[in-house]
Amino acid sequence: MSVNITFLGGADTVTGSKYLVEHNRHRLLVDCGLFQGYKQLRLRNWAPLPVVPSQIDAVVLTHAHLDHSGYIPLLVKEGYRRTIHATSGTFDLCKVLLPDSGHIQEEDAAFANRHSFSKHAPALPLYTRQDALDSLSSFHAEHMGVWFEPIPGWKARYQSAGHILGAASLLLEVGGRRILFSGDLGRPDDPLMNPPEPPPQADTVLIESTYGNRQHPPGKLFAELGPLLHKLAKRGGVAVVPVFAVGRAQAVLHTIAQLKAAGELPRSLPIFLDSPMAIHTTALFEKHMGEHRLDRAEVHAMDRVATMLETPDQSKSLATRHGPMVILAASGMATGGRVLHHLAQYAGDHRNMIILTGYQAPGTRGERLASGQSSIRIHGQDVTVRAEVAQIESASAHADGAQVLDWLHKMPSAPGQVYVVHGERDASDMLRQRIEHEIKWRAVVPEHGSVWPA
Ligand SMILES: [Zn+2]
Repeated sequence: MSVNITFLGGADTVTGSKYLVEHNRHRLLVDCGLFQGYKQLRLRNWAPLPVVPSQIDAVVLTHAHLDHSGYIPLLVKEGYRRTIHATSGTFDLCKVLLPDSGHIQEEDAAFANRHSFSKHAPALPLYTRQDALDSLSSFHAEHMGVWFEPIPGWKARYQSAGHILGAASLLLEVGGRRILFSGDLGRPDDPLMNPPEPPPQADTVLIESTYGNRQHPPGKLFAELGPLLHKLAKRGGVAVVPVFAVGRAQAVLHTIAQLKAAGELPRSLPIFLDSPMAIHTTALFEKHMGEHRLDRAEVHAMDRVATMLETPDQSKSLATRHGPMVILAASGMATGGRVLHHLAQYAGDHRNMIILTGYQAPGTRGERLASGQSSIRIHGQDVTVRAEVAQIESASAHADGAQVLDWLHKMPSAPGQVYVVHGERDASDMLRQRIEHEIKWRAVVPEHGSVWPA
């Protein structure tokens, strides 16, 4: 009996990761992510899956980022009743991320209805906060490095991938095949996370290619962020920093704490973390000591460097303050969340700054800002951008092309097949070429919806 993989997401794009593995009439879904970015991608979230959710036997997540986990509440709402396997770090983060995702979708739908700019009346959320809370009871936490059986006769094992808390690569043994899903791979030199563990031997590898066509500059976050914030403090401006609540927010906070301790930034420069989700994630660094690079003193310094804004009223009160100040808010690609209000408020003043941290998917506001567009649309209004826009490349939580190749090359011998996934077309194809030319392995870039042998 053959083993097949259907690429239901995370193929041709960085978002929507969903890989359906089928063998002997059993089905396992690796990752269950939301599509983000271009509208034609987001519309895929609304189309029914080609497989009926109640006919999937198990779901296994590599990590908690929404482009890998954000479809879970919908899958459960549509009839999935089995277990969702995840590392305990991923489970902890999903408890925060998924209800927040439901909440944002409810808010966006309500906002569209209030201002009636939706073409659909009334606009509906993809799922609600309650749907997300309901889905959490299906989770089961697994240990890193310990085999588990998601389906009788199928074996699976996690190993650390760096990237964010709980993030893992997944080795799956089924039907005599060993399939390795890289998940999102962190950088070996990440300021917060440990380097990814080297890959075990596998027959087939699914490798991510987010930055397959790029090379990270050697500059550290410290060296890039310091001069920018110093300049901002001198001219009394406001920096709006869209952050991924999980990972990047903590990397930026940790760096600001280091900059202040080193005297590179005035200790009096006010820093605000305006994201309940990021606040909860920051607290998880203390619970999961050993999964990251920080010691207890550094975790506490990261925690104390910013004023934490939990409630919407605290968030709104920022509008009455004057610069200089630094506001970190989600989401990281400015696709939603509290950062939109701050962008609308501060983007129009040339003394201010918008600092982008990490990957900006095509079609997102973050990508439009990064490409220098002078106007962005927020909540149905055009907002003129006069603020200085900076992009911090070293804030990426992904390995670049060379680092991914280095990781792959640690596999004891060549796998039979490599599928290059989780990248835009150019990035995936560039990584495919490098794999074929530099390490001489067979590699293909599967199309969205295609089926391949494992
Ligand atoms: Zn990720």
